[in-house]
Amino acid sequence: MKAEELKEKLFRKGNTGWEGIEEEKKEEIFKYTEKYMEYLNKSKTEREIVKESKKMAEKKGFKNIAECKKLKAGDKVYYINREKSMYLAIIGQKSIEEGINIIGAHADSPRLDLKPNPLYEEAGMAYLKTHYYGGIKKYQWTTIPLAIHGVIVKPNGEKIEITIGEDEKDPIFTITDLLPHLAMEQMERKLKEGIKGEDLNLLIGSIPYKGEKVQEAVKLNILNILNEKYGITEIDFVSSEIELVPAFRARSMGLDKSMVAAYGQDDKVCVYTSLTALLEIEKPETTAVCIISDKEEIGSMGNTGMESHVFDTFISEILNKLEINRPNLLDKIFCNSKMLSADVDAAYDPIYASVFEKNNAGFIGKGIGLNKYTGARGKSGASDANAEFVATIRNIFETAKIKYEVAELGRVDVGGGGTIAYILANKGVDVIDCGVPVLSMHAPYEVTSKFDIYEAYRAYSAFWKHV
Ligand code: MN
Ligand code: MN
Repeated sequence: MKAEELKEKLFRKGNTGWEGIEEEKKEEIFKYTEKYMEYLNKSKTEREIVKESKKMAEKKGFKNIAECKKLKAGDKVYYINREKSMYLAIIGQKSIEEGINIIGAHADSPRLDLKPNPLYEEAGMAYLKTHYYGGIKKYQWTTIPLAIHGVIVKPNGEKIEITIGEDEKDPIFTITDLLPHLAMEQMERKLKEGIKGEDLNLLIGSIPYKGEKVQEAVKLNILNILNEKYGITEIDFVSSEIELVPAFRARSMGLDKSMVAAYGQDDKVCVYTSLTALLEIEKPETTAVCIISDKEEIGSMGNTGMESHVFDTFISEILNKLEINRPNLLDKIFCNSKMLSADVDAAYDPIYASVFEKNNAGFIGKGIGLNKYTGARGKSGASDANAEFVATIRNIFETAKIKYEVAELGRVDVGGGGTIAYILANKGVDVIDCGVPVLSMHAPYEVTSKFDIYEAYRAYSAFWKHV
């Protein structure tokens, strides 16, 4: 055999998915990612994602599980947990005892949250104090347009939804940074201390309340505007959840338009691709379950995070309504189940090549990225997928001609990270991380490849459809 032929036969292939792509397929990819960008523009927070996803699911016949007395094969149900996380299921033709096929992504993204007492005035300007959420590089969040999204709940339960900065006619907000002329000391600091946590204060006004002179007249004017528009007073911030997110829209990127630049693609790209895959499935053999979780960016804790037992309760409720529940059945089902932990992967960035190990890095444009394990410092904290399970997933992907690559999160000992994979793995589920590679992950504007987005959708679809 000639060396070239042998190489073709024996080497792992690693070309870009765009190579030799048919015009028709490219159009399909561009059409799909157009819709993805629309979805991102409508939903920047976990509450908005859940709201939008509920609408999409109901259009496809999904019902709130609370409204179903009994369930049977083919039924489509969802459960929404406190407006922030959501579980969807299509009951399979096979007995659920044989296990379920889960794909789980998360709707929360790094951002700035308002503190409980955020409003203050200084030097004739009104500000809102923030506490950052998730792993951010703080300097990236200054001098960019920010929008305010969230809810304020009054003691009587009345909920006021706020979105300011998304409509072209809305004002936006920003966090100021020091001019270079006076930044000698600041520029000498380490990058992580260049902007400090307590410096992330949002500038929101500068006109004093008119009339007789009072202290804090600018703050008063802002509160008056808020009171006229939303009927709130300063104390109402205490029972609010208000998030500052970039006011940028999702856009096509590059002269060839091959990429998407958008806020929150970690992990909304996996939410969208898994959700749209699920919504097209009719009568799966194995029960198909989709998780849209919350609080992944801060460790999955709390009653909307994946560490809570609410997901178990959802599956138990399915068993109750299938009228087959009995002690320990839930545990047995988890031990028979498979899962793709759908979370984004760090894409190889040649500008920062030194932190990656090229043979085990995810590249944009080469399809969906599989991470056998995550963790840090000797795989610590990782859920390491079993070789047998990786083979099962390979078989599904290779049969469906899904382009995939297998990667690690960076070089050994340079850092690390985690996902929700270990939480389900601890219940006995076979899990592997499987998502879209992202450039500038956790930055206000993250970059993905349209090819990979579409391939993720195809991969998730193949996982649920295989028998
Ligand atoms: Mn993530
Ligand atoms: Mn993340």
